Amino acid sequence: MREKLLTCAKRIVIKIGSGVISTNTGLDGPIIDAISSDICALIREGYEVTLVSSGAISAGKQDLFINGKPPSIPLKQAAAAIGQSRLMRYYKKAFRNEGFKVGQVLLTREDLADRKRYLNARNTVKTLLEYRVTPIINENDTVAVEEIKFGDNDNLSAMVSALVEAQLLIILSDVDGLYSRDPNKHADAERLNVVEKITAKIEAMAGDSSTTLGTGGMITKLQAAKRAALSGAATIIVNGRTPAILRQVMNGECVGTLFLPASQKMAAKKHWIAFTKKTSGKLFLDEGAVNAIRHQGKSLLPSGVRQVEGKFGRGDMVSLCDLQGKEIARGVTEYAQGEILQIMGQKSSRIREILGYKYHEEIIHRDNLVIKSSTPNQDGESNV
Ligand code: GLU
Repeated sequence: MREKLLTCAKRIVIKIGSGVISTNTGLDGPIIDAISSDICALIREGYEVTLVSSGAISAGKQDLFINGKPPSIPLKQAAAAIGQSRLMRYYKKAFRNEGFKVGQVLLTREDLADRKRYLNARNTVKTLLEYRVTPIINENDTVAVEEIKFGDNDNLSAMVSALVEAQLLIILSDVDGLYSRDPNKHADAERLNVVEKITAKIEAMAGDSSTTLGTGGMITKLQAAKRAALSGAATIIVNGRTPAILRQVMNGECVGTLFLPASQKMAAKKHWIAFTKKTSGKLFLDEGAVNAIRHQGKSLLPSGVRQVEGKFGRGDMVSLCDLQGKEIARGVTEYAQGEILQIMGQKSSRIREILGYKYHEEIIHRDNLVIKSSTPNQDGESNV
């Protein structure tokens, strides 16, 4: 099973954590060279590889006389501004030694949340891959403040996996995989070989373990694995400091923890709706609309909306809640909040009469809507 999954993957995203490629004083040149050389070997064999690399902050912080994690956001941003170009220089040199080229792609969550910018980013990455140039993606830390950032490169790597429609996400970390208990504290901790589904029990194993240099810990890695699974990719967490680890992974050897892809893959656009875009308002629906959306695969019509909350425009993401306030779905709205306030509770045939114009019959079309539930709905769609 493991071997088949790994050997069949052609398009791969490799996430490299700060803890793997840096030391306390900056970047670790020899390990960047070694990993880059292994990646180039994969490219030579025909794999399409996209990198998501952390390390900008740890590469730049010594110029600001910072030991440990930078204590404030401006200092993190300044360190990243210094370190990002240094990081790219290391990769550029390492890839050039193998006869390959790299391209830098810096993103914020806001870029991917905007459908046009998302598609532009996808085109750029796909074009680089077509030309056998390896995209090296990082968060655009210098502009990313709380509201617009991914927060950690684990989640960014899952979004990138969906963006390029990868079959495999390899997370190179400074730990050997997911353990049944914290291996630093318990001698009897065992590494999990394969995880079929990330359940609450699995999440509890991740505890709040965090790596020394990166932003995320095991929790963000599990979030990433869950999101990647829904886009149809397997995820493997391995220790990036183990020599030739990528080769071992691709040979299907028993290393790290492998998370299987979901049995039902979510369409790329639905994945984007579910995970990339942030909600900017809420629509409260009557029971009929909740049922129609949840169980009958229907779109949201104005007649089912009872209440509107938040300020949002056309094309924004809104959360759909029942009258008790429980979120049942989310989707991209065709009408702004001010428009919905006028047409809610009315038949679609009255939209033009009330507003003086009409975009669509429905407030949210089924294709732009993702159900939030633990059980599959009737059209067999994957739920979030
Ligand atoms: N973007 C950050 C950096 O390059 C890393 C974020 C993370 O490790 O998750 O340093």
